[in-house]
Amino acid sequence: MLKLFNSSKDKTNNAIAKAVKSLTQHGISETEQENFIAFLQSEDNRSLYHTNPRLIADRLKLSERDTLKLLVASLKEGIVTLNWDIQCPVCQGVDFAATQLCDLRTLHVCPVCFHKHESDADRQVRVTFSIDERLRSLPKEADDPAFRNHVDAQYGVVSGHRLLTLQMFRELFPRETIPPNESLLIRQVTILFTDLAGSTALYSQQGDSQAYSLVNQHFNLLFEIVDQHNGAVIKTIGDAIMATFTSPDDGLKAAIAMQARMQSFNQSIQSSEHQLILKIGVHAGPCISVNLNDRNDYFGTTVNTAARVQGLSQGNDIVFTASLRNQAQAIESIKHYISEQSSVNLKGLSEPIVVFRMKANHKI
Ligand SMILES: [Zn+2]
Repeated sequence: MLKLFNSSKDKTNNAIAKAVKSLTQHGISETEQENFIAFLQSEDNRSLYHTNPRLIADRLKLSERDTLKLLVASLKEGIVTLNWDIQCPVCQGVDFAATQLCDLRTLHVCPVCFHKHESDADRQVRVTFSIDERLRSLPKEADDPAFRNHVDAQYGVVSGHRLLTLQMFRELFPRETIPPNESLLIRQVTILFTDLAGSTALYSQQGDSQAYSLVNQHFNLLFEIVDQHNGAVIKTIGDAIMATFTSPDDGLKAAIAMQARMQSFNQSIQSSEHQLILKIGVHAGPCISVNLNDRNDYFGTTVNTAARVQGLSQGNDIVFTASLRNQAQAIESIKHYISEQSSVNLKGLSEPIVVFRMKANHKI
């Protein structure tokens, strides 16, 4: 009997090890894989059921971003399943009904107290992961709400909004969206728009293929910086990108890093005719996440304002709003570089808003 038990356990352990090795193709390092294998093979059952990603981050000694990347790659390879768990703001009960974004609705009715509330992707919708039952089936005792509450209290939770703002999630699951005509409330998002100044002239001077190559290189740089700052590129529009961040500081630091990188990029191409002049606008506020053309997109006044603020940028500068300034701690360290403050009327907004402009030639 003992022998039989061992062989079944060996089989499970081998299957886990084999499955995790497939993560190499997603850029997950050997060490991360070894640690993850040990975690999946030996952790208490309760730690593998609707697991808070921050518990895994702690066990694997990884950042939250790297842990989410590991988990999203594992989701792709069928190692874990993803849960969009919805917590009721009244009775605090957690509904496990959503395993895909298309299971979420604008309004959610708590199955316990029947309270109807908005699907708030910052506060009510959180993400957890469970080991795929094809790899290791969990006994009933794995479902232990007291244990999960204890973990959440210790680490805090990872919001649905955070996963929506992970570049790798958007890339590996581009069709994962909420249903058409439904929306998720985003309480606080930082939106960054860029554009290239004088790109029409660039195309006519350099020719289409040379200009396209430069524009593409600039896209690659910007995508990398957005990812490094915990953000996601939502879309490109011509030569422009729209990116979102859950933290105002991340959005602002990404903007500064972009301008710094563009300066070194321009130096590397060593031709004044080839210079790419980047314009950036950043704004923060609430919006809704919607399904637009089968992709997750963002919608609302905050998005429109961010786009208009980018229009105020003259190139080699960053324009951001007072609402971002009020929330970003990073502002303290850069306030000496703010060269201009003005109150502007933007098309479509009834009230003037205060914007700040800073030059691009410094780091924080
Ligand atoms: Zn409830």
